[in-house]
Amino acid sequence: MLYDENLFPYLEETDPEIMETMRGELARQQGQLELIASENFTSKAVLAALSNPMQNKYAEGYPRKRYYRGCKFVDRAEDIARDRVKELFGAEYANVQPHSGTQANITAYLALIKPGDTIMGLSLSHGGHLSHGHPVNFSGMFFHVVPYEVDPETKVLNYDTIEKQAGEVKPKLLVAGASAYPRFWDWERLRAICDGVGALLMVDIAHIAGLIAAGVHASPVPFADIVTSTTHKTLRGPRGGLILCREQYAKDVDKYNFPGTQGGPFMHCIAAKAVCFKEAMSDGFREYQRQTVANASRLAAVIMEKGFDVVSGGTDNHLFLVDLTSKGLTGKEAAKALHKAGITVNKNTVPFDQQSPFVTSGIRVGTPALTTRGMKEPEMDEVGGLMAEVLDDLENDDVIESVKGKVADLVKRFPLYE
Ligand SMILES: *Cc1c(COP(=O)(O)O)cnc(C)c1O
Repeated sequence: MLYDENLFPYLEETDPEIMETMRGELARQQGQLELIASENFTSKAVLAALSNPMQNKYAEGYPRKRYYRGCKFVDRAEDIARDRVKELFGAEYANVQPHSGTQANITAYLALIKPGDTIMGLSLSHGGHLSHGHPVNFSGMFFHVVPYEVDPETKVLNYDTIEKQAGEVKPKLLVAGASAYPRFWDWERLRAICDGVGALLMVDIAHIAGLIAAGVHASPVPFADIVTSTTHKTLRGPRGGLILCREQYAKDVDKYNFPGTQGGPFMHCIAAKAVCFKEAMSDGFREYQRQTVANASRLAAVIMEKGFDVVSGGTDNHLFLVDLTSKGLTGKEAAKALHKAGITVNKNTVPFDQQSPFVTSGIRVGTPALTTRGMKEPEMDEVGGLMAEVLDDLENDDVIESVKGKVADLVKRFPLYE
């Protein structure tokens, strides 16, 4: 019976070449320190749900309103996923079909405004996401975008400035949320700003969804017209997206997702999202998010003690940005050297960066993945020390080799998928 079998021997037989890439990727994930803030390691239960025959099923439409027969069980799975995510976030309505965070945003825009309308989103180089109005993205192609930025002094959002700008720009929609912003958001204030200028409020919680589910960051659900998210970052589920909204937008959200911008939903992935939402309701998950934030604070503090600049002087969430300008380093060379030593981060622009987005002056550092492995404050002290060793002596291969050895010892103490 399929569900009692280990499926991998079949793959090994059919396609040893791809099996080899999978073995390599697993070993890579196990053998390095993952500090990319948008990545995480799902549970084995989520991985199992992803590998299931629901992936064979066409189910265009929504539960009990499908264009295909045979949807009894996938309907049940989608109902469970929707009910759980509504409960998890206290939302009136949910759509769990978006294939990704970007897909969720496309649908949300279309449900709220028309192409050509004016939106305000946080600038990419100040922590925003491509899909919040960047010119190379659909959002920048189809809408008139006026970005807002962080304060030049504090590198934190200044709501008075945003209010003043919104008064001048008069956007139809304000987009909040970010990919590289280390501080709390004030949703209530943003709602008031939007109400003052007649704008709608969309909040993209792709990065901080897990924190919000656990009550470690305030929830925008009571204040936003539509909330979008990914499911694979701090929420620790399968790759995918979701949309939460008030009942009044439910019809449009569903319509612009399918048939508007997507075809058949990935039902295996929706089943895996349901598993993720169940896990996210547990005490263990709440403790995990608390520890993730505690780890980020600790790691940022260690990095600062070692003489590095951290944007805005620390973090309230799961990530922070190291500004390497005063060290005469670029994000590109720092990320490359750290990677050689077994420490994975991404280069990232810092606000008002003088370098190009391919070079950058910063790195983004996040703790969700290491916290999933069970690391706590003492390990953050170790990790921060190892990062500083590399960054202080970038060209020194002996240092890189020695750090690589210490990384190998550290990851062995925190097994992953064993
Ligand atoms: C990661 C991210 C997305 C996009 O998610 P994808 O699944 O990669 O499309 C959207 N918005 C924000 C704020 C993100 O951080």
